[in-house]
Amino acid sequence: MAWNGIFGHDDIVEQFRRAVGRGRLATSFLFVGPSGIGKYTFALRLARALLCQESDPRELDACGECESCTQADAGTHPDISIVRKPTEKSELPLELLIGPLEKRMREGLLHDIGLKPFMGGRKIAIIDDADYLNAEGANCLLKTLEEPPPRSVLILIGTSAARQLPTIRSRCQIVRFQPLAEDLLAELLVEQGVVSGIDAARKLAMQSEGRLDLAVELTQPEIGPFRENLLHGLAEPSFNSLRLSAAVLAFVEEAGREPALRRRRLAQVVRMAIEFYRQVTRAAGGAPVSDDSLSTPLVERSLATWAATDNVAPDCLDRSLEALAQIDRNVHQTALVECWMDDLARIYAS
Ligand SMILES: [Zn+2]
Repeated sequence: MAWNGIFGHDDIVEQFRRAVGRGRLATSFLFVGPSGIGKYTFALRLARALLCQESDPRELDACGECESCTQADAGTHPDISIVRKPTEKSELPLELLIGPLEKRMREGLLHDIGLKPFMGGRKIAIIDDADYLNAEGANCLLKTLEEPPPRSVLILIGTSAARQLPTIRSRCQIVRFQPLAEDLLAELLVEQGVVSGIDAARKLAMQSEGRLDLAVELTQPEIGPFRENLLHGLAEPSFNSLRLSAAVLAFVEEAGREPALRRRRLAQVVRMAIEFYRQVTRAAGGAPVSDDSLSTPLVERSLATWAATDNVAPDCLDRSLEALAQIDRNVHQTALVECWMDDLARIYAS
């Protein structure tokens, strides 16, 4: 564990420390990277460090004890404003930025950031779901981005720079966050109590692309039995695409009616397959098979089956990565699953 309880992202901490040390901290930032890797927590800790009343701001190390740090930790700091998209909304509501209709520009994040700081030397505003800014919201933001109030810092958080409107992107300093290294994610999983032992945490980390949210999802009780069923199906030399398609679609349906929940569930399934084919591909290249009571014997079995046709696992891996990318493009789910499984079957039979 490093800076202020943040796991990883050391290079970004250094970047900020240098900027603050030189008195050249930019006013608008766009944090981008996959979800579940700590961008929001980083923004909170950065805000706390910038506002701490006891430590030298150039060190960027919050004391954790002063009035400012205490309020920052409690989420009650008068100089930190945060907005995020309510789960039931499809966009970031405009009133969160500029206040409700009857109080336009007398409330909301963009109003608050223009006030004089109460405690610290700055006002800090965090927009957690910048992916969901609509054109109107982005327009309101532009004025603040063009003429930032003195001593203000605005942090937008999104999954990629490409998803932001060009007018926003061009006015922010873009900070790119990388997924967490497997060992760091494993430590974090133990620290947060997601799993109790480091061995279990490592296995989970291996399947989670360096993302805490994906690791947590994998601990849902229904996941284990399904994964077992799926991996057995994938390791079967005579690939049964009909049976597997039906099993996958039924499992996705169990996630609920919400399209977003179903997409997440399908992505989970595709990632399980990706992880499996990746392990077989690596093992075929001589890497040791990782220690997992379920997947290890299945990986070894597939290795033996496919020894003569060594392209099966890499081709299935590519096809599964393609399926994962399609999920976000709103491709019809049943068609997506059936085509994916049919293509896998064709690769197995080749
Ligand atoms: Zn402090």
